[in-house]
Formats: sequence, structure tokens, C-alpha cells
Amino acid sequence: MNPESINRRQLFVAAGTLAATSALSANAQTPAPTQPRAAPKPDEGKPLAPKDRVGIAIVGIGAYASQQIIPSFAETKYCRLAGFVTGDAAKGRDFANRFGVAEANVFGYDQMAELANRPDIDAVYIITPNGLHREHTEAAAKAGKHVLCEKPIATSPQDAEAMIKACADAKRLLMMGYRCQYEPYNLRAIEICRSGRLGRLVSMTSEHSRTADPSDPRDTWRLNKKLAGGGSLPDIGIYSLNAMRYLTGEEPTEIQASISSPPGDPRFKEVEATVHFTLRFPSGVLANCQSSYDTADVKRGQVFGTDAILTLDPLSDYYRHNLSVSSKPKGSETPVEEKILIPEKNQFALQLDHFAQCVRTGQTPRSPGEEGLRDVRYIEGIYRAAREGKPVKVNG
Ligand code: NDP
Repeated sequence: MNPESINRRQLFVAAGTLAATSALSANAQTPAPTQPRAAPKPDEGKPLAPKDRVGIAIVGIGAYASQQIIPSFAETKYCRLAGFVTGDAAKGRDFANRFGVAEANVFGYDQMAELANRPDIDAVYIITPNGLHREHTEAAAKAGKHVLCEKPIATSPQDAEAMIKACADAKRLLMMGYRCQYEPYNLRAIEICRSGRLGRLVSMTSEHSRTADPSDPRDTWRLNKKLAGGGSLPDIGIYSLNAMRYLTGEEPTEIQASISSPPGDPRFKEVEATVHFTLRFPSGVLANCQSSYDTADVKRGQVFGTDAILTLDPLSDYYRHNLSVSSKPKGSETPVEEKILIPEKNQFALQLDHFAQCVRTGQTPRSPGEEGLRDVRYIEGIYRAAREGKPVKVNG
């Protein structure tokens, strides 16, 4: 990239950040900095024999399950694909045969209690529409199974709390499928933010947008308030929200937000198209985020420090991440962009293996159910701030 374009982009983003900063309440105090959470370390263990692996049944064989998660079991070290729960028995049997799972381990949603009789299934991975996560988690916990649950954990904080309680009562783990927290480029970005290389962190931006397509079955339920919980925010805005939290290692204390949907667009009868939200963190960092179901694709994050700017674009894609740090060397007027190249890894397998290790050892997952609860509380705060048109105080 030529230095001039870096300069222009930096100026443009800096202007946006300034606008967001001045939009925050003038009288908001910046509390004293808190100690951010440490950057996580990668797992380096050896693969286990199939009999010693954690058996996981997939709940909901949709696009994400069939295209990303199920094939990724082949790259795990501690997981064994052990069953399916599906509303389509023929599809369940087909997947069972293709992936070496006994047909007896294919269940309907109303048969989840029978999981209790399958000792070869230790856990479930819930990959159904958001509004169904609670009932599927409660059913799995009641059957004595550990739960890995897709984002967002639920469509309300109350449902998320009930899920955490159901798993705690059953003495089972509940982990969130926050795959970016296991993905090497995101982990390196966390490390850089903590290392001091960017100087003091001042502000951040993140955008997650795409065009919702009601003719795609994946988007049918996403445009339904009851099943999705909201529009772009709980579906993809949550990547920005969660990233701002893991990159700072802090919890926000104040939120401002605005929502907009194109008038008369039938896609947005029940859920919102576009959300802008600003998070204030205890150290003073301001994060300005956008999610939309109405623009071309973007999945980006940037961190602005006093000494350098980190860009992760895409931040939340499945592969092909681009991480760079740009700064002006002492005495120079020209910013230099350093591209950080590290091997891409299968983040779905890394996430599955972390879950399996937590099941095996009893350690608390890096992204437990409480992490999902915090995000749905912030999502609720974002909707409230937009509705009331003023900043709201939050406490994760
Ligand atoms: P899909 O619509 O492709 O799949 C959802 C599956 O859930 C369906 O195929 C179906 O499986 C099952 N299901 C059960 N009840 C219903 C219902 N009433 N309506 C629709 N489907 C139902 O969605 P995705 O796979 O894209 O998303 C599923 C979950 O995964 C969501 O929570 C989403 O947020 C999350 N996700 C996470 C991603 C990530 O990167 N972390 C990426 C994509 C999605 P069956 O036919 O077997 O019953």
C-alpha cells in the first residue's frame, strides 16, 4: 500500500473517531484505568485416541454446522463427532453415514432427553437459530451434557441467565462459540494491544455489515424478531462488540447508539438494518462500531494508539486475515505499515479443542456462558440507548 493512501485512510478514520468522541456525553467522567485481562496462550497438546476424545453431538445441521463445524472435527485433537439432533431425520442419517456416526445417535429436538442414555455423547454444540438456544441448552443440561453454544447466547439476558443456571445446576460446562477468541490473528492482535507497541490505546472502530437476503433460508429466521432477537446487531454487530471487549480486555461502562432501517423495506419489518454504537471503557478508550444488513460486506477492526494503529481486516472472517501495524518512525513524516504474517489455522477446530479440554480438565472456558450474557446485556443497552436517544450506563 502506498504511504499516501495510508495517510488519507488514517485521516479519514481519525476524523470519524473524533466525531464519535465528541458525540459522547460531555460530562461523562473517565474512570481510572483497570488492569486488562491477559492475552490467551495457544494450546500445544498432542492428539488423543478416538476413545479418549470428547464426544460432541451437533444440534441443528444448518449452513454453519454443515459447512464449517462438522468438517472441522477432522482437524481437532480432542473431539469426536458423536451425534446429531435435527428436525430432518433423513438429513441426520445422511450426515451420520458420511461422517462415521452411528445412526442410533441421530435424534429429533423432542428426543433430547434420550441423550442421557448415550454415554458416548459427552456434550452438544448448539447451532440453531438464536431464539432456540435456551430450550436446546436446557434440554442438553437436563440430559447431563456439556454445552457449546453459538452466538448470541440467547435473545434476552433473562434467557442467558436461565441457560447459565441450567448448566450450573447440572454441573455441566457452558461455553460460547466465540471462534474469534481462538483464531491466531485475533490472538496476535490482543497480544499487540497488551504489549504497549501501539502506545496508550485511545480509540477503536469496528464494522460488520452485509446484505440480508430474505430468499436465503439462513436469512429467513434472521429477519424474524422472535427467532433472531434483533437484526444485524445480535447477528454480526456482536463480532464488533465482543472484539472491542477482548482487544481492550475491559468491560464498557457507557453506551450511545443510533438505529436506522430503510423505510418500507420489507426485510426490516421486525428487525433493524443498521446500528451505530459507541462504547466507553474504564481506561478512557472509546470504541465506535457499526453493524448493518444493508451494505456491502465488511468485517473489520482498528485500534488507535498514541504510537501506532493496528488494522485487522477482515477481523472475523473464516480465513485470509490481514493484520498490520502502521506508525511513523521517529523523525519521519511517512507512516510505515508492517504486515504481520502468521500461519492461518482452523479456528473452528481450535475452539472445539478448547471446549474439549475444558470438559476433560474442568477448567473454565475462555469464553464461558457469562461472556455471552455480558454481550446480550450490552446489546440490550445498545437498543435502550438508541430508543432513549441518550447515553446509558452499563455494568458487564
Ligand atoms: P441456518 O439457518 O443455516 O441453520 C439453522 C439450523 O437450525 C437449521 O438448518 C435447522 O437444522 C435448525 N433449526 C431448528 N429449528 C429451526 C427453525 N425454527 N428455523 C430455522 N432453523 C431451525 O443458520 P446458521 O447455521 O447460519 O446459524 C445457526 C446459528 O449459528 C445461529 O445462532 C448463528 O448466529 C450461528 N452462527 C455463527 C457463526 C459464527 O461464525 N460463529 C456463523 C454462522 C452462524 P435442522 O434441519 O438440522 O433441524
